Amino acid sequence: MNPRLGVSDDDLEIAAAIGRYATAELAPLAAELDEQARSATCHLPGLSALGVMGMNLPERWGGPGVSPTALVLAIVEIARCCAATASMIGAHYLATDSVLIGGDDALRARYLPRAAQGVILGAFALTEPRAGSNPADMSTRARRDGDHYHLSGVKHFISNAGEADFIVVYAKTDAQAGSRGISAFVVDKDAPGLQISQPEKLMGIRGGHAFELALDCRVPATQRLGEEGSGFRTAMKVLDNSRLDVAATSLGIAEAALAAAVSWSRERLIGGEPLAEKQGIQWMLADMKLRLEAAWALTLQATHKRGSGERFSLESAMAKLVASEAVGFITDRALQIHGGYGYTRDMPLERYVRDARILRIYEGSSEIQRTIIARHMLAA
Ligand SMILES: Cc1cc2nc3c(=O)[nH]c(=O)nc-3n(C[C@H](O)[C@H](O)[C@H](O)COP(=O)(O)OP(=O)(O)OC[C@H]3O[C@@H](n4cnc5c(N)ncnc54)[C@H](O)[C@@H]3O)c2cc1C
Repeated sequence: MNPRLGVSDDDLEIAAAIGRYATAELAPLAAELDEQARSATCHLPGLSALGVMGMNLPERWGGPGVSPTALVLAIVEIARCCAATASMIGAHYLATDSVLIGGDDALRARYLPRAAQGVILGAFALTEPRAGSNPADMSTRARRDGDHYHLSGVKHFISNAGEADFIVVYAKTDAQAGSRGISAFVVDKDAPGLQISQPEKLMGIRGGHAFELALDCRVPATQRLGEEGSGFRTAMKVLDNSRLDVAATSLGIAEAALAAAVSWSRERLIGGEPLAEKQGIQWMLADMKLRLEAAWALTLQATHKRGSGERFSLESAMAKLVASEAVGFITDRALQIHGGYGYTRDMPLERYVRDARILRIYEGSSEIQRTIIARHMLAA
């Protein structure tokens, strides 16, 4: 990886250690996880030993206390070798960030140190069958019943849910109050009345399983994160963080696809000369590189702002949008440069195309990122 503006030697050292692990342990299994739709949770012991499962958390709550830049570089290295594993980790961070941002110290102490060690796995349940891009439309309800809440409703496309030990569920405590009526609850996997489907059959990131949840369960009021009605604010802050994870996953897949395209174009002979000699191929490579570097710049800009402690919703939306669209372009062109070979499952190109596609959809689609960016401009 090239040293880039604002990246410290410590950040590079952490990324290099994760990169060595990812190359040795994740890359050799990536095609198998994809082919068999086998869960990337098989990598939890190795990832946990390296501290990856808590990398989003401060030392006080069991994390290694690395910078936001090191976190991004680590995810790039993981996604470069196995995007499904990066997605599984990202879903765990969505859950632990929810507890960190929304919870009190009792809940943080109960979940975060074990989650940071990878002893317990988390999931984040915001989306519903009829409420994706606009979560304020959710119909899952949490009705107070003495010192408990009764949660009822259906959540859809919830990554990790089937493997998770705890799920952060967003539900309406006040159905009339729109987004201000949403609260968040930590639901343990053994909560009576929690039903989890078989994994969805996905196009890509097939080792990163997503499930439907049916909730009809009682949850102690002490499992609520923060005040009633604070859930939407918590979720939006969590998504600011997670959009950088998606940008980093995009960069990782894009780095892998571009490297494959460069080496194939050097080796493949057409009419006795390497493909790389053709101007049409050179221009394609140049366009891929430009988009990759633009995505790096926006991602690191957002990462620095995150490190400064200021809100970075705009920067995070821009990084997610540009990086996820760049990886779509780059994986498509990389496959094109490989010709028919790229279209076979003997090579990872078609997997890169499929894995990259979700990055423009989840954690706010490209259309929603554009809406966030425009709202910031118009509010200024
Ligand atoms: C594999 C996978 C894993 C996921 N993991 C999780 C998870 O762990 N937790 C979780 O809570 N959710 C998760 N999701 C859900 C994901 O975040 C949603 O699918 C996403 O937010 C889009 O919602 P939707 O599918 O309901 O699409 P819709 O909201 O129905 O949108 C359909 C289309 O309309 C567009 N659109 C919507 N509103 C507008 C608008 N205002 N202007 C212009 N266009 C618009 C969208 O961009 C999209 O192209 C996951 C989804 C998948 C597929």
